[in-house]
Amino acid sequence: MAIVFDIRKYSIHDGPGIRTTVFFKGCPLRCRWCHNPEGQFLGVEVILRSARCIRCRACVEACPHGAARLGEAGPEVQRERCERCGECTLVCCAEARQIVGREMTVAQVMAEIEGDIPFYDESGGGVTLSGGEPLAQRDFALGLLEACKEKEIHTALDTCGFATWDTFERLRACVDLFLYDLKLVDAEKHHQFTGVSNERILANLQALSQRGHKILLRVPVIPGINDDAETIRQIASLAASLPHLDGIELLPYHHIGVDKYTRLNKTYLLPDAQPPSEEKMAELTYILQAYGLPVKIEVKT
Ligand code: SF4
Ligand code: SF4
Repeated sequence: MAIVFDIRKYSIHDGPGIRTTVFFKGCPLRCRWCHNPEGQFLGVEVILRSARCIRCRACVEACPHGAARLGEAGPEVQRERCERCGECTLVCCAEARQIVGREMTVAQVMAEIEGDIPFYDESGGGVTLSGGEPLAQRDFALGLLEACKEKEIHTALDTCGFATWDTFERLRACVDLFLYDLKLVDAEKHHQFTGVSNERILANLQALSQRGHKILLRVPVIPGINDDAETIRQIASLAASLPHLDGIELLPYHHIGVDKYTRLNKTYLLPDAQPPSEEKMAELTYILQAYGLPVKIEVKT
């Protein structure tokens, strides 16, 4: 069993061809720019869409734990009391309360995937594990990858790299492509903006590269955090030193996902950030290309 928060079909941004992307809940990082905050917590959660609320109070009456409330601005959840049972969402006819995340078996996920095999075959696509961080639910990730390989489905793993090497060792044979996130090379800044050290992330990247795995490095371009020339040069230098790398994707910062913070009653920590200009992206691309790196700009949501 794993907790999955979305299965997105016909994706064209998470690896080659047409893909099905499975989004896992749970992530050890807390990147300030995260556009999938519903993927951070490893468990189901209640999200609120206040504008939809018709103030019927059905949720308040249905909640067995006294956690569902109705405030002036709409529905509220007293998070420390909420047991995430979902009762309030079942009675909300306006869908102002919704549960994010569902427990699924490998067989259930595969049942959703298998119908799309003809699209994968036609387009050179497959299945991508994303999140959250898929490796936060390692055994399930391995089971799903193995099930895909049994069906000869191309697999991609979108990972932040923050896992033990033993984890990578166990599943790397079932991964056709690593979509490996790299935010910052500077250890102090990495800790400051993601909440964890990048030591393990860099070591795993190096180890995968040494073993000849297909790796696409993905760099989110975040204004004021890693979009300066020096920071991109550090990333370029590290990428160019790897024994094997298939390319770099720059992912420009965007605002999609900011509303999710409100729905989860979380605070978005980069309220003033603006997407980088085309000129900025061109400048950063030029720096990477000067190191002989194949660069692509990908707008990923
Ligand atoms: S999920 Fe359950 S405990 Fe939480 S607010 Fe809804 S009904 Fe109450
Ligand atoms: S059940 Fe839904 S619509 Fe009714 S008060 Fe609660 S959140 Fe609002």
